[in-house]
Amino acid sequence: MDEERERRRKRVKRIKKTIIFIIIAIIILPTILCVILFFKMNSYKNEVSDLKKTMTEYVKAREESFAIAYAGGKKEQTTESADSNNPTKELDKETDNTEPSTEVKPAPIETEAETETETETTTEAETTTETETATETETETETVFEPETIIQRDGQKELVEKALAEGRKVVYLTFDDGPCSNTGKLLDVLDKYGVKATFFINGHEGFEKELNRMVAGGHTLAMHTYSHVYESVYANVDSFAKEIDQLRQYIYKNTGLYPHIFRFPGGSSNSQTDSIQPYIDYLNKNGFLYFDWNVSSGDGGATPSVDQLYNNVMSGIEKQKVSIVLMHDSTAKMTTFEAMPRILESLQAMNALILPINDDTTPVHHNIN
Ligand code: ZN
Repeated sequence: MDEERERRRKRVKRIKKTIIFIIIAIIILPTILCVILFFKMNSYKNEVSDLKKTMTEYVKAREESFAIAYAGGKKEQTTESADSNNPTKELDKETDNTEPSTEVKPAPIETEAETETETETTTEAETTTETETATETETETETVFEPETIIQRDGQKELVEKALAEGRKVVYLTFDDGPCSNTGKLLDVLDKYGVKATFFINGHEGFEKELNRMVAGGHTLAMHTYSHVYESVYANVDSFAKEIDQLRQYIYKNTGLYPHIFRFPGGSSNSQTDSIQPYIDYLNKNGFLYFDWNVSSGDGGATPSVDQLYNNVMSGIEKQKVSIVLMHDSTAKMTTFEAMPRILESLQAMNALILPINDDTTPVHHNIN
């Protein structure tokens, strides 16, 4: 009997011990978990604040590069570009830019048989003539430039004047017809040499990353019509306006920004239309600035070899004080891409000032008939 009692006592004791252990575990475990979660939460909190900081810096950098790339660009501009009755905006700085404009003379211009399609047979024999003086409209309408872009305008003009006074070459590298699957690599090369360029693009879909890289990198994202198809671009001014608006919307969709710097497919002296003047009038009325070129890499029609391309560019630049160099950003123009490091090294070796086009840039315009 005693033995039986003793066994029972021991069992009860064991059960008691187990119950106490379970109770302790129930109390301690959540406490430990709480402590772990507390530390985790703190580390997440730090991560979030770091990310916030990075985001703010990114947005700031983006805005700054916007100021460079889009100097004068009308962010959130609501003006319908198809509306030809828009009030005339500030244009044509040639009038107050006499020194540089006398230096910018079009070189013998080569054909810019653009578009990757083989069917293109157009020869845009750009005639060699004097810098344009037409379309000078002395308008007194209010400017719509944002404060930060005005600062940038002043900045580039001073830089250019200083460089010219020191006998340095001023070079604007421009790439037409992109973006394409090669654009990322081209941007890598430009980044490597710390060079900002100008991209006159068409509405090729699927290159949001590249377009945003251009903006963030301080390059100028500029317009070259949506389709680049001459039959559509130069059918009439309405069709032209539609092409521009379509491209503006495409750029806005991809980058949240509206550009307003423009280059005519084939240049302003192309032979696709009897008179380019109505098209120029449209650009002027709607606050767009257009740029031709005075140095051609020769990659518009045929595909020159790397050596030829390099020589075309360098000999062209040699003849100008301020060069706007025509090149193409297209998968069909690999030699252009391959020649870039050599061109950039030579330009940097001769201490050329390489800039992206903005509102402060003295335009090169081909002759208009
Ligand atoms: Zn083109």
